[in-house]
Amino acid sequence: MQFFDLKKQHQNLKLEIDAAISRVLESGVFIGGPEVEDFEKEAADFFGVKHAIGLNSGTDALVLSLRALGIGAGDEVIVPALTYFATAEAVAAVGATPVFCDIDSATLNIDTKEIERKINSKTKAIIPVHFYGRAADMAAIVKIAKGYDLFVVEDAAQAAGAQCGGKFCGTIGDVGCFSLFPTKNLGAFGDGGFVLTDRVDLAQRIRLLRAHGAKPEDKYNHLVLGMNSRLDAIQAATVRVKLRHLDEFNQKRIANAARYNKNLEGAGDIVLPGIGGDLSCIFHQYTIRTGRRDELAKFLKENRIPTMVYYPVALHLQPGFAYLGYKIGDFPEAERAVREILSLPIYPELLLSDQDEIVRAVRGFWNK
Ligand SMILES: *Cc1c(COP(=O)(O)O)cnc(C)c1O
Repeated sequence: MQFFDLKKQHQNLKLEIDAAISRVLESGVFIGGPEVEDFEKEAADFFGVKHAIGLNSGTDALVLSLRALGIGAGDEVIVPALTYFATAEAVAAVGATPVFCDIDSATLNIDTKEIERKINSKTKAIIPVHFYGRAADMAAIVKIAKGYDLFVVEDAAQAAGAQCGGKFCGTIGDVGCFSLFPTKNLGAFGDGGFVLTDRVDLAQRIRLLRAHGAKPEDKYNHLVLGMNSRLDAIQAATVRVKLRHLDEFNQKRIANAARYNKNLEGAGDIVLPGIGGDLSCIFHQYTIRTGRRDELAKFLKENRIPTMVYYPVALHLQPGFAYLGYKIGDFPEAERAVREILSLPIYPELLLSDQDEIVRAVRGFWNK
């Protein structure tokens, strides 16, 4: 058993993917071009926004969004203390300061009751992360942002296809950032990313920034300083195929999560992730909590059940952010979560028999 099984997904999609890749190979166009334009058009249609822009990674999606919004040195951006490193690293990469905010213990998303306390005259934006594929409380976040005239940059890298109040995550703030890293729930066969926005000014600016500040039709006339963050045609072609299956993949993840919840109920001190309700989840990860996390992970490993901890260290305590001067105890909920969380395999192709084996092993830990 594996934690991710991208081979199984590929076997199911092989005919479609092979056709897409050979179309690119025969076209002779490998960076940008019609395949990327078609992906952008289809992604904009799928998510219901005016603009989708293909980029080199989810990290670049965050960096270029912040740059397009004019955020830089002297500015502060509010980020949850529990997320992947890149969310806050992108803030630092544009010269601004990440300001961490604790998480809500029930959703593991940014605690909207804590946000206002972090706002001052330097604050320019909030980056809510739809962590594990669970929508952050966008209604509350947008309300706060409006009240203080802040931008909202959604980090939807783990939440392609998740919804919040009837809208897709990544389409509610000023700009939404997505990763196409292979293990994301919408993944390519290499690095990739994209942004969604309804704002034409941001779309134009991000298009310039991704190609060294030049327009495609006048590519040696560099209007501003940008970088290379173009999307490969092969990645665009494969993601066009996967986008057509995204809904079906997400439904399978949700069904797997529901089955785990039903079968793991009442095991030891286990806390199961919520399903349904206002803030929905597409289960990019299925993550349980227990006070005996390390023992459980060790026991499962001995029983050849793969698990992961996303993530083992809260961001304010990462060595890379030591210069910000945070200390242990600053964000108690994030610090408690990193000790208790454990993700179990949840990919769409997970066999029921494998899931049953995982459930038996988890229950077996408390029955031994
Ligand atoms: C994966 C991820 C990113 C970064 O995406 P890359 O494509 O790996 O650069 C950013 N934020 C979150 C929450 C992620 O999970």
